[in-house]
Amino acid sequence: SKNIKVHSTFECMKLKPDLLKGIYSYGFEAPSAIQSRAIMQIINGRDTIAQAQSGTGKTATFSIGILQVIESKSKECQALILSPTRELAVQIQGVVKHLGNYMNIQTHACIGGTQLGEDLKKLKQGQQIVSGTPGRVLDMVKRRNLNIRNVKMLILDEADELFLKGFKDQIYEIYKFLPSNVQIVIVSATMSREVLELTNKFTTDPVKILVKRDDVTLEGIKQFHIQCEKEDWKFDTLCDLYDSLTITQAVIFCNTKVKVNWLAEQMRKQNFTVASMHGDMKQNERDSIMNDFRSGSSRVLISTDVWARGIDVQQVSLVVNYDLPLDKENYVHRIGRSGRFGRKGVAINLITKDDVSGLREIERYYSVKIKEMPANINDLM
Ligand code: ADP
Ligand code: MG
Repeated sequence: SKNIKVHSTFECMKLKPDLLKGIYSYGFEAPSAIQSRAIMQIINGRDTIAQAQSGTGKTATFSIGILQVIESKSKECQALILSPTRELAVQIQGVVKHLGNYMNIQTHACIGGTQLGEDLKKLKQGQQIVSGTPGRVLDMVKRRNLNIRNVKMLILDEADELFLKGFKDQIYEIYKFLPSNVQIVIVSATMSREVLELTNKFTTDPVKILVKRDDVTLEGIKQFHIQCEKEDWKFDTLCDLYDSLTITQAVIFCNTKVKVNWLAEQMRKQNFTVASMHGDMKQNERDSIMNDFRSGSSRVLISTDVWARGIDVQQVSLVVNYDLPLDKENYVHRIGRSGRFGRKGVAINLITKDDVSGLREIERYYSVKIKEMPANINDLM
């Protein structure tokens, strides 16, 4: 990827004026590193593997690519974006919509947990760009409510998660309905060799923009651990941290839905205000929790890895791993919910002696030092 041409301004990408207008009115001034490299490759029709650290603007990278090549006159679905969670699919659709605000483009979020009838109605109107989760998209394709025969571009955001976490079969099935010459764009902050091999089946001579594992963690996110004598002490430690958590916004990760419920309940019993969210909640409940958190009316959110990937809330500056992630990849995704687009972030890992070896593994995996948390956290913020 050394000889990839860098386009350091949006002007020199020769974008459609209405798209350029959308980009500037969204507040972007100059392209990020990944945008300056990958957007033109996507526009030029190349299959692209775009790896870049969390919060560096991968969504706009493929969104701008899509919007530049889309034909607004045709009402056919021309681009399909798949991602692993409903909230992420909705967020992506929002970004595409904003960037394409002056382009007269129809976009739709096609996600599970919503009424099929609503989906149907929207799709009948002709949606040129669809962002969805694999299950619902496949369902709509099979029912012939979504015609993807004319899709030019398939984007797989959080591709490693999609391939390795149970979506693989659905993606293979969706792929069969796509035209054989469909352009593929593979996106994530993490990209194991295993995933790169899986992508070989889909891509033709892809441009690869990759990040070495040592460089995947962001400098702007300070990482610490707090050693707790026993598991119970994690709770007291978290309560002690609460005031710091609410300075801006914070996300606390647990490994199971049961633990999320339990922790939220314990915190509330102690009169702390916390929101909580996981994949077993009804979609309308998830939506209202997301809306409250995005608007800042809730500040501390306890969640599972349903929140680990892709969700962009710029005010989040603190991430707490109440449980260390079971999946080393998700460590970097979890802490990457803070430190969005160059902002500062702090990640705190609560550990007992049982977690020490897990923490060491993470340190080795990413070549980072996760030091003991200093006494006054507020000095860091
Ligand atoms: P990633 O997918 O790489 O984790 P996102 O696409 O979610 O990152 O973008 C992270 C944040 O950076 C978003 O809030 C987005 O609006 C912002 N952003 C992206 N590109 C730019 C840009 N060129 N200039 C300013 N902000 C940007
Ligand atoms: Mg992303």
